[in-house]
Amino acid sequence: MDKFKDFAGGFLESVGRPLMTGVSLKEHSSFRIGGKAEFFFEAGSAEELKAAVARARLESVPFYVIGGGYNILFPDEGYLGLIIQNRAQGISRGPGPGEIEVLSGTPLSKVLQFALDNGLAGLEFLAGIPGTLGGALYSNAGAFGSSIGDIFRAGVFLDEKGNERTAEGNDLAFAYRRSALQQKHSIALSAVLKAAAGDPEMIRNGIEENLDKRRRKQPPWGTPCAGSYFKNPVLPDGTKVSAGRLLEEAGARNVRVGDAAVFSGHCNFLINLGRARACDVLALAAELKERVRATSGILLEEEVIYLPGSFSMF
Ligand SMILES: Cc1cc2nc3c(=O)[nH]c(=O)nc-3n(C[C@H](O)[C@H](O)[C@H](O)COP(=O)(O)OP(=O)(O)OC[C@H]3O[C@@H](n4cnc5c(N)ncnc54)[C@H](O)[C@@H]3O)c2cc1C
Repeated sequence: MDKFKDFAGGFLESVGRPLMTGVSLKEHSSFRIGGKAEFFFEAGSAEELKAAVARARLESVPFYVIGGGYNILFPDEGYLGLIIQNRAQGISRGPGPGEIEVLSGTPLSKVLQFALDNGLAGLEFLAGIPGTLGGALYSNAGAFGSSIGDIFRAGVFLDEKGNERTAEGNDLAFAYRRSALQQKHSIALSAVLKAAAGDPEMIRNGIEENLDKRRRKQPPWGTPCAGSYFKNPVLPDGTKVSAGRLLEEAGARNVRVGDAAVFSGHCNFLINLGRARACDVLALAAELKERVRATSGILLEEEVIYLPGSFSMF
């Protein structure tokens, strides 16, 4: 108990704002699932983010940085440690022509609006992808044949020892829903994105078209889910197969565990009908993987991240 208080006290001293305790992670996940975080802190700037990470490291308290919580399944038992929600936001014109400099906690929707307002094209594929720049860099988020790695020019990161590093071009080894951030456990602080001068009317039309495609195949906006649950498998010859189609062929459409269900309009969306727990989603996902393996011989891999467990220091 004393150590618990010491951590909260030391945190306030070095970060400048208090952390919260016993925060429901359900409220910070688009799946609307999850127990409580022992400690929770909303970092409002890159300085607060760095200070919070440094303090947790110093005290050896397990910590996990989240953005918007649009791609995470939090455990029912909650998280023993510190969840840091990154709200460090800011967008400006970058150093080179057509470049945009963005802080990692900025929602992608704001980045897209900035591009539109400034007549910058090439980011339209981001339309309708919820979450922050940091979350997008982590999983190389994308849609309609493009992903964030394609427009990444450079960025500033905290490495696993807490040192600031810069990365450029393909230093982050972007691939389909992968980036080196996943192995290196680095935290994105900011990035410079590449765009090109474009006609605002065409940019607006591109955004509208993409939003329209989403409306036709995805659950209505606000349905508790975390986007596509599985990655589209890539065959040895490089062909990408639709996970949704494999699931459909495996008879996934009406499968349900508790309140965790397959969305009827697109089998790769697992949704929370109201009171689903993480264990229901995990059981449903396991059942679906087994069905697809049995019908196609393909093992699906999760795109949604299940937060790893931790142990309490207190
Ligand atoms: C309706 C819906 C539609 C979606 N459509 C798409 C789509 O078309 N394409 C797509 O790719 N995804 C899609 N997603 C998933 C989601 O929007 C993306 O994965 C997005 O990038 C998540 O960003 P986030 O800020 O919410 O990250 P979070 O969910 O908060 O975190 C995801 C991961 O990123 C890590 N992370 C967060 N911030 C940082 C940081 N600053 N530095 C390092 N790591 C960090 C976290 O630790 C975690 O491991 C969709 C989700 C929903 C709900």
